[in-house]
Amino acid sequence: MEAAQGFIEEYKLLECIQCGVCTGSCPVSAKAGLNIRQLMREIKLNGRVEIPPEEVLWSCTTCSTCETRCPKELSPYEVLVGMRGITVEEGKVSATVRDALESVFKHGNPWDRARAKRSEWAEGLDVPAFTEDTELLFYVGCTSAYDPRCQETARALVSIFSAAGIDFGTLGNEESCCGDSVYGMGEKGLFEMLVEDNTELFEGRGVKRMVTASPHCFNAFKNRYGDPGFEAQHYTQLLATLIDEGKLALTGRFEKTVTYHDPCFLGRQNDVYDEPRKVLEAVPGLSFVELDRSRERSLCCEGGGGRMWMEVPGERLAEKRIRGAVEVGAEVIATACPFCLSTLEDAVLTAGLEGSIEVMDIAEIVAKAL
Ligand code: SF4
Ligand code: SF4
Repeated sequence: MEAAQGFIEEYKLLECIQCGVCTGSCPVSAKAGLNIRQLMREIKLNGRVEIPPEEVLWSCTTCSTCETRCPKELSPYEVLVGMRGITVEEGKVSATVRDALESVFKHGNPWDRARAKRSEWAEGLDVPAFTEDTELLFYVGCTSAYDPRCQETARALVSIFSAAGIDFGTLGNEESCCGDSVYGMGEKGLFEMLVEDNTELFEGRGVKRMVTASPHCFNAFKNRYGDPGFEAQHYTQLLATLIDEGKLALTGRFEKTVTYHDPCFLGRQNDVYDEPRKVLEAVPGLSFVELDRSRERSLCCEGGGGRMWMEVPGERLAEKRIRGAVEVGAEVIATACPFCLSTLEDAVLTAGLEGSIEVMDIAEIVAKAL
């Protein structure tokens, strides 16, 4: 009873007019049987929080389409995050989710990798350590630091920053998870701990400006850290500014037809739509085509909200995305997020389209045109 009252107040459930726009616009509603409108209604009607089956509860990617479309400006997916919090507290989560959360607590990353290996991606590169005199912190993020495919984005960014003469540095093995996926998994206690520890670390090191490789880290720092005393940017924003100011000269050519997949946490969550396109369009030789569903209507890749650690049966949305990119004649589908990069690349294989299309991060394309 108490939980229901808390949910009604926290998520403003009395303001919901039951229009169903949230469920109608939810990209996983049909495949996973997720009816967010109904779940909200039941809490109000029954006076208790009834948790749906695991495959329904964890199907939400926190893509925020429901929030963007809700005429009452509610955040329906936060109700699901709240429900996940109850299951986490009760220990009723799958082993993959539990292990990811434990790994964040123990090692500062959800990939069960040693902290001492966090900066291995930079071996052989000249990556400066951040000091109090450094202008810009390059916050690499867990996936770009540890995932061999996504490490290529981190390396590409280093070559771009160096070419543009930016005074940047990283925190090396001291860097810890931003907590974005932890929040999406409902472990708000662990998330608060990360906010506190990271804020203390950044303050202690004198961080005033940072650039992130991932939209998830950018979103966490910008929207979920309160007023942390530093400014966070996604790298596409920084690159667009450098191009505008004539500080990033792209002289190489990239002669391919490229489309762009808007990551949910960059586009819908933060309205960063123009900068990634501006960067791609500045690449000599590149021919840009839009996907049928782009910008606010972009289709989620299913990598957010902890879904990297939870498989939901049914056709993957990332496969639809890849088919859409092939249909518009793209040779490359570009994105600007490590989760999108991984899910889209997997989808090329599972959709049987190997050899038809390539998945690249925008940073990799820019690095080829330096
Ligand atoms: S879109 Fe908003 S108002 Fe409409 S049912 Fe969903 S939460 Fe309620
Ligand atoms: S955040 Fe996205 S996946 Fe989750 S309920 Fe809303 S629309 Fe559906």
